[in-house]
Amino acid sequence: MKDYFCAECTQHECSKKEKGELPSRCPMRDDELMKSSFAEYEKSDNHDFYVNCSEIEAIGYCQWTRLREIMEFSRRMGYRRLGLAFCRGLRNEARITARILRENGFTVISVICKTGGIDKDQVGIKRKVHPSEYEPMCNPVAQAMALERAETEFNIVLGLCVGHDSMFFKYTHTMTTVLAVKDRVTGHNPLAAIYNCDGYFKTRLKVDDGKTD
Ligand code: SF4
Repeated sequence: MKDYFCAECTQHECSKKEKGELPSRCPMRDDELMKSSFAEYEKSDNHDFYVNCSEIEAIGYCQWTRLREIMEFSRRMGYRRLGLAFCRGLRNEARITARILRENGFTVISVICKTGGIDKDQVGIKRKVHPSEYEPMCNPVAQAMALERAETEFNIVLGLCVGHDSMFFKYTHTMTTVLAVKDRVTGHNPLAAIYNCDGYFKTRLKVDDGKTD
C-alpha cells in the first residue's frame, strides 16, 4: 500500500521545471502511475474538457468568481442545460443561482435534496435534528437520477451535506462541479476553520473519539 505525503512535503519538485531528487513518498516515483494518468487526458471525452477548464483558470485568474468561471467554462464547452443539485438549507441561494444562470442564457434544471419527502425513519436513520418530528431524508441518489433523466450536460452541486455529496457523485454519470460546500458553522466557508485552527476554532476541530454515539 502506498503512503504518499504531498500535504507534508516542502520540496515541491513537482512545481519545478528542473526536478531534483524526489522525496521517498512522492507519487512521481511511480512512472507507471504518471504515464497512465497522463494518457487519460488524451481521451476524447476528457481532452477538451480538461484543457478548457484549465484555460478558464488562466483567463479569469483572480478576476472571475467561481460562478462566473462555471458559466464561462460551460459556454466554452457548449453546455446549455445545467443541473443544479442543491440543499434545502440553501434554497434561497439556489433560487438566486438559477436566476443568474438563466439570465446568462442557460437552461437550469434544479432538484432539491429533500425530493421524495421520505421520512428518515424509513431508511433507518436514528439520529435526527428534531427527534420527535417528521424529518425528510436527503436524497442525493434521486437528485443524481433526476438530473440524468433531464439530460443535463453539466451539473452544479450547491451545499450538499458531507457524504450526501459523495452519494451524488457516485450516482451521477454527468460531469459535475461544486459551487459551494455545506458548512453550517462557518457560513459555508470551511476554510475559515482552517485559518483559525489555532485560535477561535482550536477546540472545535477535534473528533469526539467514541463519544459520538
Ligand atoms: S508530488 Fe512529490 S514533490 Fe510534489 S508535493 Fe508531492 S511529494 Fe512533494
